[in-house]
Amino acid sequence: MPRDPQGAARHAMVREQVRARGVRDRRVLAALATVPRHAFVPPALLHAAHDDAPLAIGCGQTISQPYMVALMTAALATRRTHRVLEIGTGSGYQAAVLAHLVRRVFTVERLDALSAAAAERLTALGYRNVVYRVGDGSEGWPEEAPFDGIVVTAAAPDIPAPLLAQLAPGGRIVVPVGDRSLQVLTVAERGPGGLRTWTEGACRFVPLIGPHAFAERP
Ligand code: SAH
Repeated sequence: MPRDPQGAARHAMVREQVRARGVRDRRVLAALATVPRHAFVPPALLHAAHDDAPLAIGCGQTISQPYMVALMTAALATRRTHRVLEIGTGSGYQAAVLAHLVRRVFTVERLDALSAAAAERLTALGYRNVVYRVGDGSEGWPEEAPFDGIVVTAAAPDIPAPLLAQLAPGGRIVVPVGDRSLQVLTVAERGPGGLRTWTEGACRFVPLIGPHAFAERP
């Protein structure tokens, strides 16, 4: 029996699901190897914490698949000095990964219960450079803009315009763009010549709910 079974499973997760699929950014791999993913899943799903899949976290929401978190984080091309905005706090796992890589993480969640639980979890784990807001993240966080990076961890029909407006020069935004059931991971960079946009493959996220995104299902 290994002394740190969760650590062993986590390192295997990084090796087999993330590195083997082509994410080679050393800072991103190190962050995923460090953040205790098992602390972000409901106790009943502890056995599945390092599975190659998203998992239900309550309120009809999910913690993203490890590979997807790595791909989105690598696409942001973060630096130590950056301030990054995350839309869709969920479990707080993506925020924790970012907290290892940048100066400050601003994370917005529309569901109060999830935001509060994530804040409590990250604080207990010792993360001090994450700030939380409850509200419609498709409006961004104008008082704290501009951001060096913005990551939307829910599906949107387009890159929400208010978020583009809050992106700093040279900054990148990563958004799953598509319909409610299937999206393409879309990356845009605000360069000197304007916005450069490319895609990183198909993905499946829960919908971003709001006036700039999808309507809430009854
Ligand atoms: N990043 C999370 C996974 C997020 S799942 C993690 O690492 O665990 C997507 C989250 O986006 C859900 O928690 C959902 O409630 C939230 N969400 C949906 N629409 C939103 C909106 N308009 N503003 C903020 N959060 C939103």
